[in-house]
Amino acid sequence: MSKIRIGIIGYGNLGRGVQLAVKQNPDMELVGVFTRRDPSTVQVNDASVGVYLVEQAIDFQDKIDVMILCGGSAKDLPEQTPQIAQNFHTVDSFDTHALIPEFFEKVDKAAKASNKISVISVGWDPGLFSLNRLLGEVVLPQGNTFTFWGDGLSQGHSDALRRIEGVKNAVQYTLPVKEAVDRVRNGENPTLSTREKHTRECFVVLEDGAKQEVVEQQIVTMPNYFADYDTTVHFISEEELQQNHSGMPHGGFVIRSGESGSKEKQLMEFSLKLESNPNFTSSVLVAYARAAYRLGQTGQSGAKTAFDIPFGLLSPKSAEQLRAELL
Ligand code: NDP
Repeated sequence: MSKIRIGIIGYGNLGRGVQLAVKQNPDMELVGVFTRRDPSTVQVNDASVGVYLVEQAIDFQDKIDVMILCGGSAKDLPEQTPQIAQNFHTVDSFDTHALIPEFFEKVDKAAKASNKISVISVGWDPGLFSLNRLLGEVVLPQGNTFTFWGDGLSQGHSDALRRIEGVKNAVQYTLPVKEAVDRVRNGENPTLSTREKHTRECFVVLEDGAKQEVVEQQIVTMPNYFADYDTTVHFISEEELQQNHSGMPHGGFVIRSGESGSKEKQLMEFSLKLESNPNFTSSVLVAYARAAYRLGQTGQSGAKTAFDIPFGLLSPKSAEQLRAELL
């Protein structure tokens, strides 16, 4: 059986993760990596994989089945997904939740015009968490859904710390508040404020001469990022940061707490504990690339989210095999 031919657009954390994930899936092969940088400056993990300028992707129309877009959600994907969808099936992890409907419309137009499939916003959140929020709602229509994130490193909040004057380097962890999680798991259905659900813990390396009190005050009062949370700030050395805080762990859980017909308490929970956020997200993207390819073979086109993809299409196994082994 011929393999599904994959291309990677954008070679950052996710790009590297997709390359590793493809290797774990024998029905797929990586054909090329496409970047906006000078390809000779981009070191790929496997020297046998070609690196090309993103403008050269068009030359691969007959050589690549699905392009996995690994750019950032803020600036890259809003431009790149609709553009690449003009010639390829695509998969991306666009995660700006509030803008997903708008993004969907734009990508849908491009993918329908080219008769391709574009799976948008898959990963773990949005992605696997979204599926579990939906499942909770339909099975327990009388109830509440709670999403907790962490313990995990937040890239956006770490970037916000690094932009503060006097900060040389920094990381930020988001932590779920144990009491809040326990109350939800007890079926109390509490109303929880932002502050009651998560805390934020910062590890900061200062520039020479910067004052701890000044930087700390700026952090804990920063609107949108820290002001609404109980935030702890630790000042550490660059060596300690490199040694203890260079991983990208994350995770969290989606809990549906509800009642069935005779007022019985029912709890559904899905949880993830990830040693590497990008490598896990990349593994999800690769499974959806298979689904995009197979959906495309049925003649469908347009943008799809995790809600629109039948589960069986994610698997390399046949429907018969899945019925026999996993039902
Ligand atoms: P990165 O910042 O590592 O990479 C983003 C892009 O930046 C790359 O595609 C690459 O494009 C460029 N880039 C990477 N390294 C360099 C460098 N050294 N110098 C210059 N440019 C570089 O982002 P991530 O891969 O960590 O994450 C991508 C997106 O994935 C995030 O924005 C986030 O929104 C999303 N995400 C979604 C999740 C979900 O569950 N749905 C979970 C985790 C992340 P190029 O090669 O073209 O230069």
